[in-house]
Amino acid sequence: MTLRVCRLEDIVPDTGVCALVGDQQVAIFRVEERVYALGNRDPFSDANVLSRGIVGDLSGELVVASPVYKQHFSLLTGICAEDSAVRVPVFAARVEEGFVLVEPPVEVATTCCYCGVGCGMLVSAAGNTVTSVRGDPAHPANFGRLCTKGTTLHLSMDPVSRLTYPQIRGNRASWDEALEHAAERFASCIEQHGPDSVAFYISGQLLTEDYYVFNKLAKGLVGTNNIDTNSRLCMSSAVAGYKLSLGVDAPPCCYEDIEAAELIVIAGSNTAFAHPILFRRIEDARAANPQLKLIVVDPRATVTARAADLHLALKPGTDVPLFNAMLHVIARDGLLSAEYLRAHTEGFEALEPLLAYWTPERAAAVCELPVEQIVEAARAFAKARSALSLYCQGLNQSVNGTYKNCALINLHLATGQIGRAGAGPFSLTGQPNAMGGREVGGMANLLSAHRELANASDRAEMARFWGVPSVPEKAGKTAVELFQALDTGEVKMVWIACTNPAQSMPDANAVRRALGRAEFVVVQEAYADAETCEYADVLLPAASWAEKEGTVTNSERRISRVRAAVPPPGEARPDWAIAADFARRLQRRLGKAIAFGYQSAAEIFAEHVETTRGRDLDITGLSYASLERDGPQQWPYPQGAGSGRARLYGDGVFPTPSGRARFVATEYVEPAEPADAEFPLRLTTGRLRDQWHSMTRTGRVAQLFSHSPEPEIALHPLDAAQLGLDDGALARIASRRGQTVMKVRASPEMRRGDAFVAMHWGGRFMSGPGSNALTLGAVDPFSKQPELKHAAVRVEPFVAGWRRMLSGPAQLRGAVTPLLQRFDYAALSLARDGTLCLELAAAEAPGAQVLALLDDLFGTSVESRTADRGRTICSCFGVGETQIAAFKTLRELQAKLKCGTNCGSCLPELRSRIAA
Ligand code: SF4
Repeated sequence: MTLRVCRLEDIVPDTGVCALVGDQQVAIFRVEERVYALGNRDPFSDANVLSRGIVGDLSGELVVASPVYKQHFSLLTGICAEDSAVRVPVFAARVEEGFVLVEPPVEVATTCCYCGVGCGMLVSAAGNTVTSVRGDPAHPANFGRLCTKGTTLHLSMDPVSRLTYPQIRGNRASWDEALEHAAERFASCIEQHGPDSVAFYISGQLLTEDYYVFNKLAKGLVGTNNIDTNSRLCMSSAVAGYKLSLGVDAPPCCYEDIEAAELIVIAGSNTAFAHPILFRRIEDARAANPQLKLIVVDPRATVTARAADLHLALKPGTDVPLFNAMLHVIARDGLLSAEYLRAHTEGFEALEPLLAYWTPERAAAVCELPVEQIVEAARAFAKARSALSLYCQGLNQSVNGTYKNCALINLHLATGQIGRAGAGPFSLTGQPNAMGGREVGGMANLLSAHRELANASDRAEMARFWGVPSVPEKAGKTAVELFQALDTGEVKMVWIACTNPAQSMPDANAVRRALGRAEFVVVQEAYADAETCEYADVLLPAASWAEKEGTVTNSERRISRVRAAVPPPGEARPDWAIAADFARRLQRRLGKAIAFGYQSAAEIFAEHVETTRGRDLDITGLSYASLERDGPQQWPYPQGAGSGRARLYGDGVFPTPSGRARFVATEYVEPAEPADAEFPLRLTTGRLRDQWHSMTRTGRVAQLFSHSPEPEIALHPLDAAQLGLDDGALARIASRRGQTVMKVRASPEMRRGDAFVAMHWGGRFMSGPGSNALTLGAVDPFSKQPELKHAAVRVEPFVAGWRRMLSGPAQLRGAVTPLLQRFDYAALSLARDGTLCLELAAAEAPGAQVLALLDDLFGTSVESRTADRGRTICSCFGVGETQIAAFKTLRELQAKLKCGTNCGSCLPELRSRIAA
């Protein structure tokens, strides 16, 4: 509701007054006959003083100068002229009939845009600014909790680096010009070379409605299945595993199974970092039920693994031998559920040669585990009243990924640990809406609502539904194939939306070469500095989180609404609206007429809902109105159901032709690139606690750097010593595809012979294309998911002839980022107070020109950013490891330093440090 705060004539021109709007102090300024409203709090002095500041013109921009430290804030955007990372909220204000009217802040319920836990959050917005977020106590995924990333989401909305208008080869264009140009290029390519000469590469961060329109555009309008997504890097082995074993791509479990389980097996997931709110739920469940045991399967002694009752630190890539041997033990010890096998499964007999081969002794030798641990894990799994397995990229990102999934599911089927409370195989989705993408069939080998491309009647059904003559049968190019085809020219044009393949794809150098060779690249993106933008012929500004409407589905099949709290900046538009607008222009050129005239996200959702009628994921009982009324709901939710289904297969009937679940003979396939004499270390990649994907969003939040501020490679201390590398030393890391220089972290959490780098680091934060310069594009034969978890590397000392550590204001970032590539080693990060920190090293001193450039930017000061608190563990309160070491109990630590009392993401690490 708009508030009338005063008469215009009550404000002296070029000054301000303070008013209370809702519960917020607002500074209202008058410039001639116009009014501007900003939050009254000066973030530098933390005092409510801006209304007393002086209003004036600073380089053509209307600003107010704080009366305390004199920083200037734009009256239009609220951005600080001295530090663009800082902004004050802007309120919508206008004059009507001589009175000043101001819009009060609003609170909007939406969903976190990071991981697949799918936490609900309440977003406070004032005018065009998201001012704060808090967990939604009513959302069943998180009940009010948020992790470090979720808690700081509002700080990631950096307006300076947003794309705000379309561009054609770097020049500003209108939407009309940009989309007409793209439509003309795509149409002529399709007419000349056929529909498979173009491709779409989209994202698990898109909303279901965005995904639906892109899928219809590619498969219905263009007539190609060349549409794939970054979910291929994330969940496609889980999809293939579910389909092979259980019949369809449907996670059978729900989050409540955590409390109902007697045993939880976490395989290939550092849940404490990658799905923090779910891990807190596991911790709570263990505290409430001491009988609940935790087994963790992971090569590294991660924070998650250190919390386990049994940690199986297997050799990377050997999960299939481990699970096969566990099944061997279960069968040998008479622990099979004969009744479940007989009534609800098929194919167990065919496994016998495989099980005979994978004795625990043989598996122990391959996995480099003690036999006793394999036997103990197998017996615990079979004997538990309810066993739940949670798994993620450690299983999926492998050339053996599908079979890793199936081998784990075999254990559940053999023991009847499925379809009951607390039991079942439960994939944790990495991305916020990988599930939604799978539901609309937005991938190269999928079709809408779990239909099959290879099934003629499924294709005919969708063709009828979309009003097109046919839907193509041949599977399209999956992610790795797509960029390889761009490289060879087989695919000539690509449309990339909401993802950053130049940084996130394996073998990044090859992907960049492919993007460079493509005839035409359209990039639809929110942030101007995402690495992929530099390859765009047409760059389109997309609305982002808190700026658009839609839905997402989380790991437990729960559909939540995503709502807009602020308008998109400049000319940015929702992704579905851009895709639909392009489709309308393209079909005019192709002489087709398909319905793309959507006016709202709700309309698209309703169309998607109709595609699910009668399918296993039927959601014909849902609409935007029902989600508004009843809140987030799980699928299936058919018309008239009254509620969604919490868990699947309770009746033991599976969506396979026979109605039985299938045992899969899971052959072990070794990693595509084993370590050898030339590249003797096994490199795995994974997530940090406080960063997300390629850091286009989290890389703007100073607080999120404190836990892991710079790229580093973790090695076992003895391996590091053998290589002549001290903790913190610089090392050159080389694989067959590329190389990079990082600092070494000598870490006892590593196995001998293994190395680990975080997946997030790219060319905006370091020299070179980042972690993925090292990884390879070998893929699983079923899922086509690349093996991001295993590459052979060589690590050797890097001798720096020149080093420098610099710091300066955050607004130097734009000028500094392109310089990173001029040094052998570069690490750019943000200190807690927003200061930009830069560490550089080179084999030889750079030329005078580069040194002069650095001096121009930073002056000649040399500063260290190493805090005497040591590595930061609690990023909410900035508490470091040396401070924590002084405490004996968590209670004492929390009372004194407050760490772990806000979002709680550091609690698992605090507990493991105090216990050590
Ligand atoms: Fe977001 Fe964290 Fe929840 Fe994941 S666990 S959805 S990142 S708040």
